Parts: sequence; C-alpha cells; structure tokens
Amino acid sequence: MSIIQIKDKKFALSIPEVEIQNAVRKVGDAINRDLADKDPLFICVLNGAFMFAGDLMKTVTIPSEITFIKLSSYDGLYSTGKVKEIIGLNESVVGRNVVVVEDIVDTGITMERILSSLRAKGANEIKVATFLQKPDALQRDITVDYIAMKIPNDFIVGYGLDYDGYGRNLKDIYTVVSE
Ligand code: 5GP
Ligand code: MG
Repeated sequence: MSIIQIKDKKFALSIPEVEIQNAVRKVGDAINRDLADKDPLFICVLNGAFMFAGDLMKTVTIPSEITFIKLSSYDGLYSTGKVKEIIGLNESVVGRNVVVVEDIVDTGITMERILSSLRAKGANEIKVATFLQKPDALQRDITVDYIAMKIPNDFIVGYGLDYDGYGRNLKDIYTVVSE
C-alpha cells in the first residue's frame, strides 16, 4: 500500500487517478444530457474544487460559462462549522441555471449556505455537482444532484483537497492513517 507523509500525518492511497477520472467523466456525461439547453453557469467553489472543476469542464460539451467563489470552513482536520466568504460572485445569477461545483459535501453546512445565497440572488434552477460526498457526515437537508464518488467519514487529501494547505496537487486521493 502506498503511504505518504504530509506534515505530521501519514496518508494511505485510497482512490487512484483512473477511478477518479472515470467517475468525473460520468458526471460530465450526465450534465451534458440534463442541461443541454439550459446555458448553465458553473460556479466552482475554491480552493478545493479547482481540480475537479478543471477535469469536469473538459468533459462538458454544452454551451456554458464558469466562474469562481472562494470559501473556507476547515481548520486542519476538523470542520469549524463557520463558513467564511473570501471572494464573492462577480456576475449576476438572476434567472440563470447554475451548477455549484464542490470538492466534497461533508456536513452540508457550506453547501446550505451557498444555496441560500444563490436563491437570494435570484438564480433560477440550482444544481449541485460534488466530486465526493460523505453520506454519514451530512447534517443538512440538501439535494446533491451529481456525486462522482461516495466515501466513508474519514479525512482525505489530494485532487484539490488539502491538509493544512498541502496535498492539493496529488492526482490520487489519500486517507489519513490513524495512529
Ligand atoms: P461542510 O461544510 O460540508 O462540512 O464542509 C465542506 C468543506 O470542508 C469542503 O468543501 C472541503 O473543503 C472541506 N472538507 C470536508 N471534508 C474534508 C476532508 O476529508 N478533507 C479535506 N481536505 N477537506 C474536507
Ligand atoms: Mg470545498
């Protein structure tokens, strides 16, 4: 088993790149099918979703736009429960069909906050596409329309997700090894 060290923690390989890419392609196929005539605006939630959004957008073939917002809620290994908005939306979402692109839906607190803000800003139809979901951690009643992969309730890094800022560049997903 492949083990890596990031700062004070060890992580074991859990989802290899090929599996990730296959799962991302399936989400892209579904979006191409479902939103073909909807002119969607994709909203990538930085930092974590940058890699998923990049790969996903290469599979999207329908007319669409992409923009970025930046939020932060994690502090080390644990969700703080508080969501900070660091870079907001520049463009109008009034009447737009939007697809929120997230790295992971964990407690759902971040997504609930994004969805209510997009509704308040006048978005029409709002879909959620997440690379990962931790179904056992969900604490909010939100609908996630596209889920590339579901994972257990363990802390992971790689493919955009970090441990204390590091590991986002890894092309595979690694799970923390508990000592
Ligand atoms: P939520 O608000 O759903 O609890 O948390 C969502 C955010 O927490 C995600 O967008 C992601 O940035 C971060 N997060 C949740 N679980 C993990 C994890 O296992 N690893 C990392 N690196 N970030 C996570
Ligand atoms: Mg995120």
